Amino acid sequence: MAPDHAHLCKALSEEELTAALGEAGVRVTRHRTLIYLTLAKLATHPTADELHDAVHAEDTKVSLATVYNTLETLTELGLVRRIAPDAPGQGCRFDAEIAPHVHMVMPDGCVSDVPDDLSEEILGSIPASLLDQLAKRMGVRINGIKIDLSCTPGR
Ligand SMILES: [Zn+2]
Repeated sequence: MAPDHAHLCKALSEEELTAALGEAGVRVTRHRTLIYLTLAKLATHPTADELHDAVHAEDTKVSLATVYNTLETLTELGLVRRIAPDAPGQGCRFDAEIAPHVHMVMPDGCVSDVPDDLSEEILGSIPASLLDQLAKRMGVRINGIKIDLSCTPGR
């Protein structure tokens, strides 16, 4: 992990997850909980396959299909964010951090979070007046900003 990784994941605790699933009428299972908590622990924004590997290390009974289905459910509930792949052939990646933040995307598809302070500065640097202007001109409501920085290794 990068030494300047000043990012605190604001993912849900097990209790908060249980409450959120219950509220949405989704059955809380040990496997769903394990999948979410494993995703929340990883800073790598894993694909479903990578997440399955990590979950499998804890519990070999969790199938890849369960990981896919759970990610689908959690994404639909807005508890997990799906990151579309940059290049064909790369799988979707997943993020338990749903608050707005900026991603760095490397050529191999690896995604990491920009440190919180810089992320806030980047997101905050887009003037509200500009967004208003855009919303008016295009007749849309802007609900959020997603910024993925396309990066290559430096120094
Ligand atoms: Zn992220």
